[in-house]
Amino acid sequence: MRIGLTGGIGSGKSEVAKIFEGLGAFVIDTDALARDVVGPTSDALMEIAREWPAVVRDGLLDRAQLGAIVFADAGARAKLNAILHPHIRRAAMQREMSARPHQPIVHVVPLLFETDYARLVDRTVLVVAPDAERVARVRARDGSSEAEVRARMAAQIAPARARLLADATIENDADLETLRARARAVYRELVGAG
Ligand code: ATP
Repeated sequence: MRIGLTGGIGSGKSEVAKIFEGLGAFVIDTDALARDVVGPTSDALMEIAREWPAVVRDGLLDRAQLGAIVFADAGARAKLNAILHPHIRRAAMQREMSARPHQPIVHVVPLLFETDYARLVDRTVLVVAPDAERVARVRARDGSSEAEVRARMAAQIAPARARLLADATIENDADLETLRARARAVYRELVGAG
C-alpha cells in the first residue's frame, strides 16, 4: 500500500507524516529527496546548470538564487519541476526498498496533485487547515513574513480543488491531540491497522 500525503504550506503534513510513522508506516519525505538529488555532480544539478548557469558555482547550487528565480516566474517553476520530479520519483522508489515487507509506505509530496506523482500511489491523503492558522504556524516555525507565506499559498493548488481529488482529507483546525486522533482514524481506514 502506497499512500501519497499532501497539503499546502503549513497545513500540517509533516505532523501527520510523523503520526503515520508512529502507527507503523515507512515515510518517504520528497522534500528531503529534492535536496539530495541536486547534490554535487548529480544529473539534476547538471540539468539546472544548463538552464540557469548563474545558480551553480564551483559545482554547488545556490538555492536562494534559484528559489528567487522560480518563485517570481511560473514558467521557470514549471521547468524546474520538470527537471526535478523524475529524479525525485526515482530516488523515492529506491527508498522504498528499505521498507519492511507489507509495511505501508507514505510518500509526503507537497505537489502531489500538481504533478503526476498522484498516479504512482494507491491512495491520496490531504491535510487542510485554516489559512490564518497556516500563516501563524509557519511564521512561528521559521520566521517567514505573512506576505511570503501567502505568496507560497497562492502558488499551490487551491485546497478546495485538492479536496475533490483526495481520497481522504484530514482537517487540522484544532490542537495536536485532535490531529492525532483524526490522522489515526484515516490511517486505520486506509490500511486497516494501526
Ligand atoms: P510545509 O509545507 O511548510 O513543510 P507542513 O504542511 O509540513 O508545512 P508542518 O510542518 O507539519 O506543516 O506544520 C507547520 C507547523 O505548525 C509546525 O511547526 C507544526 O509543528 C505546527 N502544527 C501543525 N499542526 C498543528 C496543530 N494542530 N497545533 C499546533 N501546531 C501545529
